[in-house]
Amino acid sequence: MILVLQKNTPEPAIRQLLAQLALQNVKGGCVAGETSILLPLVGETWRLDPAALQALPYVQEARRLTPAYHLAARSTHPENTVVPVGDVRVGADFCLIAGPCAVESAHQIQTVAAAVKAAGAVMLRGGAFKPRTSPYSFQGLKEVGLDYLKGAKKETGLPIVTEIMSPYMIERFVEDVDLIQVGARNMQNFELLKELGKTNKPILLKRGLAATIEEWLMAAEYIMSEGNENVILCERGIRTFETYTRNTLDVSAIPAVKKLSHLPVVVDPSHAAGLWWMVEPLAKAAVAVGADGLIIEVHNNPEAAWCDGAQSLKPDRFAKLMGDLRGIANIVGREL
Ligand code: PEP
Ligand code: MN
Repeated sequence: MILVLQKNTPEPAIRQLLAQLALQNVKGGCVAGETSILLPLVGETWRLDPAALQALPYVQEARRLTPAYHLAARSTHPENTVVPVGDVRVGADFCLIAGPCAVESAHQIQTVAAAVKAAGAVMLRGGAFKPRTSPYSFQGLKEVGLDYLKGAKKETGLPIVTEIMSPYMIERFVEDVDLIQVGARNMQNFELLKELGKTNKPILLKRGLAATIEEWLMAAEYIMSEGNENVILCERGIRTFETYTRNTLDVSAIPAVKKLSHLPVVVDPSHAAGLWWMVEPLAKAAVAVGADGLIIEVHNNPEAAWCDGAQSLKPDRFAKLMGDLRGIANIVGREL
């Protein structure tokens, strides 16, 4: 970080400022320039708030040279992070996660699990606790849904991915869930993030509906700063002025995040588009721009789905998509 002070800043004021910064494990130099005084700062600068520094007397500007999300940043950790989920090494192997939006019955989740496994999925998704816009919509089978997911895991061997909505469920999720999903609506539920940070479970952190890339990486930092570095990011579309699609898939966020962070990034084309027929081209785009995986909604009977049927693929289409994705993966030098 660098501080730019007014040229006329008195020396005692500079000394006082440096002493204050030292209390926060930040050391500073002092370089007198033509029109200003520069204080390059080193140490735990991620603790500092540039806006607060800028409000101090004589400070003209406070500028970060390294990101505040220092644990998630590639600049402090150049190698890709690999997050193990069961036998899957997310970030090294391309991972395909599939399953229904919501768990509806033991039979439904077993049927879909067997179908997506046969098509090549390596993890099973399915919501037991559903964050719905309306309180009158189906809210999920809750704990019973988790039991059914566990049953499907037992049958197929697929690790399970499901969404947590509240810290009070953490103990049960740590016990039964392989990859804990934090949904878009909870991306800035900081208490939930901090509690998940105290576990060692892999976390799938979805991007918030209107979150910038920096806010998303800062959310990852909340989990990591508590000690859990097993974070996988998920781009699932952001809200824009466009209403034709449910959200707008931010394809550019994928290479951007791969550049800014060492964490794996998976893409959810189902929630991005909201339309089943758009899932295939968006999934191909995600593979082409460097995503580490995909999470796709698949339902055995989308017309009768209790949630998100319009964006769900039937198992046979999902199987065909797998084949098409292999072709794209070959072109961009990835194995699928
Ligand atoms: C989901 O994956 O079922 C879901 C609710 O996704 P999002 O949080 O991205 O809306
Ligand atoms: Mn859904």
